[in-house]
Amino acid sequence: MQSSRRRFIKWSALASLTPLAPLLGKPAGSKPLVVSTWNFGVPSNAEAWKVLSGGGRALDAVERGVWVPEGDAKETSVGLGGLPDRDGRVTLDACIMDEFANCGAVACLEHIVHPVSVARKVMEKTPHVMLVGEGALQFALTQGFKKEKLLTPESEKAWKEWLKKAEYKPVANIENHDTIGMIALDMKQNLSGACTTSGMAYKMKGRVGDSPIIGAGLYVDNEVGAATSTGVGEEVIRICGSHLVVELMRQGNTPQEACEKAVQRIVKNQPQKSKEIQVGFLAIDKSGNYGAYALQKGFTYAVYSPEIPNQLFEAKSHY
Ligand code: ASP
Repeated sequence: MQSSRRRFIKWSALASLTPLAPLLGKPAGSKPLVVSTWNFGVPSNAEAWKVLSGGGRALDAVERGVWVPEGDAKETSVGLGGLPDRDGRVTLDACIMDEFANCGAVACLEHIVHPVSVARKVMEKTPHVMLVGEGALQFALTQGFKKEKLLTPESEKAWKEWLKKAEYKPVANIENHDTIGMIALDMKQNLSGACTTSGMAYKMKGRVGDSPIIGAGLYVDNEVGAATSTGVGEEVIRICGSHLVVELMRQGNTPQEACEKAVQRIVKNQPQKSKEIQVGFLAIDKSGNYGAYALQKGFTYAVYSPEIPNQLFEAKSHY
């Protein structure tokens, strides 16, 4: 397992960027635009850009973008190779939302490498928004998805090591969690987003975080903007985080201000706990401005626009 720091350096080098460039607050103000969470946002944005730069739809861009960490066995917080729950099961959560407020989600889905695409099928082929567990798997199989083993030898080893103490304590910015949330604005000025994760490592069986919950881990309003989140999902759910960020933008806040206000809401609700956990928000508006903010230092995100050719930044933080 690579450390976050090492991977940050690796992707920084790949994207030939100035690490942690202080561009925060300065709006990109352009389209197309794609932003996504954490270091794996860089290779993921590069995939999404192939769709956006060709005039494609933001929805297709975000789906294709998040396939990158979902399919990467070395990423231990998303899709294949994700760290399991405390019973050793890899259970995945994902959602997707388009410019018409169509949305689909899956939670606690096992054995499928690309849960985001199952979420898209839920959106497009069913009258529902969310399918969970066995029902989600059954549906995926009817849609032609292949049943696969997602627990890699490395993740199994990490889980067995964890079992020795079996202590459950999320640690800010380390890879026993992390989600890819990706939001994009296409050339037609339409917004879409996707969010996908294996959730908190060693979680209780059946635990679902913010990531597949529309309004918590992801929200898109084509009139206003889009937002996504990462970190301890329970705290994001409590404030309907991504929906809150979008509503704050509707009230006239910039994406940066909206992310800051949402994080401050968590601090107000949980003054003590908020010092120990990580939560980060990432947002874009309809004009192609972006912003990000987190509780703790270390929340990285990637931006790709005509002016910013795929760079990784570190968000400002409350602490
Ligand atoms: N938000 C995810 C969850 O709670 C985990 C993460 O982003 O770190 O499942």
